[in-house]
Amino acid sequence: MSYQRKEIPAEEIRRQEAICLRIRGRVAADGAAPLAMVDTYGCQQNEADSEKLRGYLQEMGYGFTADEFEADVIVVNTCAVREHAEMRVLGNVGALNHSKKARPGQIVAVCGCMVQQEHMAQKIKRSYPVVDLVFGPHELWRFPELLERVMLSHKRVFAAEKNDGVVAEGIPRRRDGDVKAWLSIMYGCNNFCTYCVVPYVRGRERSRRPEDIVAEARELIAAGYKDITLLGQNVNSYGKDLGCGVDFADLIRLVDAIPGDYRIRFMTSHPKDATEKLFRTMAECAHCTHQLHLPVQSGSDRVLKAMNRSYTREKYLAQVALARQYMPDLVLTTDIIVGFPGETEEEFAETLSLVEQVRYDAMFTFIYSKRVGTPAASMPDPYTREDKQKHFDALTELANRISGEKHREYEGKTLRVLIDGETGKEEYNLSSRTDGGRLVHLRGDPALIGEFCDVKIASSNTWALYGELV
Ligand code: SAH
Ligand code: SF4
Repeated sequence: MSYQRKEIPAEEIRRQEAICLRIRGRVAADGAAPLAMVDTYGCQQNEADSEKLRGYLQEMGYGFTADEFEADVIVVNTCAVREHAEMRVLGNVGALNHSKKARPGQIVAVCGCMVQQEHMAQKIKRSYPVVDLVFGPHELWRFPELLERVMLSHKRVFAAEKNDGVVAEGIPRRRDGDVKAWLSIMYGCNNFCTYCVVPYVRGRERSRRPEDIVAEARELIAAGYKDITLLGQNVNSYGKDLGCGVDFADLIRLVDAIPGDYRIRFMTSHPKDATEKLFRTMAECAHCTHQLHLPVQSGSDRVLKAMNRSYTREKYLAQVALARQYMPDLVLTTDIIVGFPGETEEEFAETLSLVEQVRYDAMFTFIYSKRVGTPAASMPDPYTREDKQKHFDALTELANRISGEKHREYEGKTLRVLIDGETGKEEYNLSSRTDGGRLVHLRGDPALIGEFCDVKIASSNTWALYGELV
């Protein structure tokens, strides 16, 4: 797997920004204030990418709307991890026929992981004439150039060639909020879990330089952001491709050294690369929250091996024990796939027993979804959808019971939370998060949004805690 690191030169990004200004001039000459809509599916990385799309669109002079009938440009940023997300995207893109008819000249772009798959790009080309522009994740940095090509040529443009991925610094961003921020530290994945499409669509692992990450963190903190999530498909392999001697734990220390009242969290950690050094660093760095998302996927060694996860149940449990030794208050979450090809009743029972043993604060559970081109897609899969659904329901019930029990343990305790928004509900009008990322609803003055406060937890359910300011 040889990957030649490819950085987009700064002058290329400046060229894109010059194109934004050209588009701005043309659009302004048309009179009315133009509007754009960016619709995002999937993971936090996609949310972060959509902030860049909005950054470019803002430089082009666009305002934003959530109504497709008002939008002059629509960008649908897609996800390919499961079939369900793809079906939703295709349904919603097809429905844009209506807005396009009502608003001639409307430009529809589809980008992201889904269209980086050859068969999907073809499908859109063939069956979705409403789409004017298709571009994969590796082309996002040149969105202005691609959009301008559509505007000038009035022809459809497709840009989703096979690509191992690039690193592009300096793309303008329009962030979604002013309390919490995403900070991408690396892109791509080299792990090739046998069920997963991500390595095929997001390219090889490549890290941003530590100085670029620290500079962005400084800017965020100076701008008043209080909760920064370091993002990567597998943050634990940060820096391996750079060879500059900074690993993920070192990076946390570099960010943590920035003075200020803020917290750092990160996702996702692959268990095969989580180290004692990481747990020690988390425990020692005052800004780093004691929250770990450590996807286990299965509790069965046979299934883990077939998934190419490179760890055993025993090794995973040992890691959890070690992490909790360093951080007794650790909030631990996970992802689990139910119904991986050939998963038996006994193997599923091993997942249930692992969950009982670990007692996660929260879990994200998925039914296995067959992905074109992945090794698991050609593994024998004798079990029916009904079998899998039964297992899924049993796992969800267990997960909910444990979350509810863990939440009940907070009742009567006073926790430090960051107030991050309004709920729109009368009784508990504000939402907040604990250091561990648990959701807390409370009553208070909306002026407190963006502040850290102490809250006494009065009640709870499976999904949230309810508290009062102290
Ligand atoms: N890089 C992250 C996760 C990326 S995808 C990690 O390795 O932890 C997020 C989650 O989606 C995965 O953890 C997995 O549980 C789930 N997932 C990925 N591919 C899937 C598939 N084909 N079917 C069902 N769930 C899948
Ligand atoms: Fe997919 Fe595995 Fe990479 Fe996560 S680590 S993105 S599950 S291949």
